[in-house]
Amino acid sequence: MIQLYIPLNFLGVLYREIKQSLTDLEKMFTLMEREREVEDKAGAQPLPEEADWSVKFEHVSFAYEPARPILHDVSFEIPAGKTVAVVGPSGSGKSTLARLLYRFYDVQQGRIAIAGRDVRDVTQGSVRQAIGIVPQDTVLFNDTVEYNIAYGRPGAGRAVVEAAARAAHIHSFIASTPKGYETMVGERGLKLSGGEKQRVAIARTLLKNPPILIFDEATSALDSANERAIQAELKSAAQNKTALVIAHRLSTVVDAHQILVMELGRIIERGTHQELLARGGRYADMWALQQSVEGEALAEVIGM
Ligand code: ATP
Repeated sequence: MIQLYIPLNFLGVLYREIKQSLTDLEKMFTLMEREREVEDKAGAQPLPEEADWSVKFEHVSFAYEPARPILHDVSFEIPAGKTVAVVGPSGSGKSTLARLLYRFYDVQQGRIAIAGRDVRDVTQGSVRQAIGIVPQDTVLFNDTVEYNIAYGRPGAGRAVVEAAARAAHIHSFIASTPKGYETMVGERGLKLSGGEKQRVAIARTLLKNPPILIFDEATSALDSANERAIQAELKSAAQNKTALVIAHRLSTVVDAHQILVMELGRIIERGTHQELLARGGRYADMWALQQSVEGEALAEVIGM
């Protein structure tokens, strides 16, 4: 009886382990499934390792479902090493631009080029190698903090992981936990806040060191100190990189080389912060509104 009990008990543990691994795998496949919308062309070549990493959208139109067009004739360029920020109401198509650049989907009209090559003509692997994404909602694996950061560059040693964590200002938080970099995170481990998760994603991206960066700002508001810190970290991560920033707060975009204002899948205004303010259009209205909301909040805090 005892002999039978032990293996069964062991099997129970094993079963739970396997079941959890399958759940994790399932999640991963769901993510991969989403990425498998497009296939490499026969004979597709990788992007070159060294290039002038510009990004160009030329007359791009796109629909997830044929009956509902999302982007209409969108054209813009991010010269190598520059930052373009996209603002606009929820649902205007901002994140769709990022998904298309990463080639989760193919455009129906127009073209998207990286380093002058149509993304449909090169291997998906090389496109994804060239791009680092800091998403709105970072997927953390049920594994250690170290694994989650090193995911940006498998095989990176502890020293390199720690350097990236320091640069993303998450090191002291990690060091303050009893198990440090061995701390398990994710659903069954330490729960990280939105800001901490974004920092893990920034550290991952710093490790990967890709020439192109997509930053999809979290919609959920962080407290303003955290928000400013993340913005500063992002700014240093984006230095000399070609960056597409999807912004939900205008304070993020002030320094961008160009700001695109989107509405209903169209770019309705473009320019620098100063140019758009001077224009007195939609961006200037959004800015004035945000300033007054912040002003009211400040007045409330200081009791005016
Ligand atoms: P937010 O600021 O809320 O993140 P957004 O400007 O980034 O919004 P997108 O996520 O690009 O907007 O979505 C644009 C439109 O495309 C929305 O109407 C959305 O419902 C639709 N959409 C997004 N993803 C899909 C999908 N996988 N299938 C069908 N429609 C989608």
